Amino acid sequence: MSTTTTGASSDAAQRERDVVGSVATGLLVGGERVEGGDGRTIDVVDPSTEEVLASVADATPEDGQRALAAAAAAQGEWGRTPPRERGEVLRRAWELVTARVDDLALLMTLEMGKSLAESRAEIAYAAEFFRWFSEEAVRVDGRWSTSPDGATRLLTMRQPVGPCLFVTPWNFPMAMGTRKIAPAVAAGCTMVVKPASQTPLTMSALADVLAEAGLPAGVLNVVTTSRTGEVVEPIVRDGRLRKLSFTGSTPVGRTLVEQSAQQLLRTSMELGGNAPFLVFDDADLDAAVDGAMLAKMRNVGEACTSANRFHVQRGVLEEFTRRLTERMAALVVGRGTEDGVDVGPLIDERQRGKVEELVGDAVDGGARVLTGGERTGGRGYFYAPTVLADVPASARLLREEVFGPVAPVVAFDTEEEGVAQANDTEYGLVSYVYTRDVGRALRVCEQVETGMVGLNQGVVSNPAAPFGGVKQSGFGREGGREGIDEYLETKYVGMTI
Ligand code: NAP
Repeated sequence: MSTTTTGASSDAAQRERDVVGSVATGLLVGGERVEGGDGRTIDVVDPSTEEVLASVADATPEDGQRALAAAAAAQGEWGRTPPRERGEVLRRAWELVTARVDDLALLMTLEMGKSLAESRAEIAYAAEFFRWFSEEAVRVDGRWSTSPDGATRLLTMRQPVGPCLFVTPWNFPMAMGTRKIAPAVAAGCTMVVKPASQTPLTMSALADVLAEAGLPAGVLNVVTTSRTGEVVEPIVRDGRLRKLSFTGSTPVGRTLVEQSAQQLLRTSMELGGNAPFLVFDDADLDAAVDGAMLAKMRNVGEACTSANRFHVQRGVLEEFTRRLTERMAALVVGRGTEDGVDVGPLIDERQRGKVEELVGDAVDGGARVLTGGERTGGRGYFYAPTVLADVPASARLLREEVFGPVAPVVAFDTEEEGVAQANDTEYGLVSYVYTRDVGRALRVCEQVETGMVGLNQGVVSNPAAPFGGVKQSGFGREGGREGIDEYLETKYVGMTI
């Protein structure tokens, strides 16, 4: 591992200021940018320098209610808009985001930390939801049939569910928004978006892109707040809200589901993960190591899909671990804006402290540090890419989400044991499986208890596929043909003709 230390040149620093300065910092309510009701603001910090980048409006609970009222007021007309018009808004938004990828990537890197290459990749992925759902908007259909006794005709129609609330995390500041916004727009729903307090700038810039693409005022409202629970809970309990979609941690997801029970609100929960990465003796080891690097290090390891633990069959354990360690040790850690940087900082000190604590717990239990295992750099929340061997079964990081650049390696002997290790978790978002044996591949894919499987590949996220988990990773699917179903109600009309 090496760490870069160069600061931004004065030209680069000016460009950073320009890009940040171009972003609206007010709340977006009914098409207007407004300050928070009591004038308070939230500082947005660059995690690679610990310096304040900008301050955005800090909404009060009353501001949250105003945003919901705006969404409710816009619902009727928006729901009746021709599907092609809604699709065209999304299509234009895809074009605009794609054309502005450089500025948006810089903005994202500044507030979230990951490298510019990773920010560009997230933006391409995020924008693709606009393109995918621009195409799905015109494919919402229903059914016409005759009842079995011939007495009645059955007409089934699908209609927008109504005003939605979206609460999103900081790790993918744009994609976690577009995965919800795009299908909601396509289906004809209005919405209030509450982005993470640590990364509100990207969502603000995205909201302006959508307005420019022709999204009418009030369809998308954005509320940033540090008083998160106080602002969100009354919205969730309000009868005007018809749908809540949340991406974030499992504990917060549980709280929101409890709150939503009062209104029997429709909910989608994209929650935490603890992905196992299984490597069998017959795997293509080159592919497995490439896939491991992607699955582990995408987004600095701060992804719900991140490989949390590596279960490797005894015959390839040594070779796989050696190669993984070499690759992890060669990564360049530094400010995400700098050329050649692979790994940016973690989001904040709390997150870095948690990674340190989990590594410390494993080492105390007997794990060996093969590379990394410590914080690095001066200012900024950097942590060295880490590989741990001989990780004891009792180690917390085998059960808890690490959310950082740490790869614990554990051995197994039989296929049955590998699957049992993979499933030994309360989470069920994604598994990765590397094997060249077709029978084993299909058996293991059937047996792992996760909503998604990467079979001989280290990335599963794809706008054309249904993303989501089982067990305590949540419920509901985003993307694919299923993605728009979350925003549609089914109504049936029984007819005598
Ligand atoms: P988090 O603490 O749960 O925060 C996520 C969002 O929830 C933020 O907007 C946060 O607002 C808000 N929030 C926090 N407390 C709340 C409350 N009491 N009521 C309503 N909203 C509340 O999660 P995080 O640390 O930002 O994100 C990391 C987690 O997200 C990980 O567990 C990761 O696995 C998961 N994730 C899951 C997926 C998926 O698709 N399954 C994708 C990405 C991430 P503030 O920022 O204002 O606190």
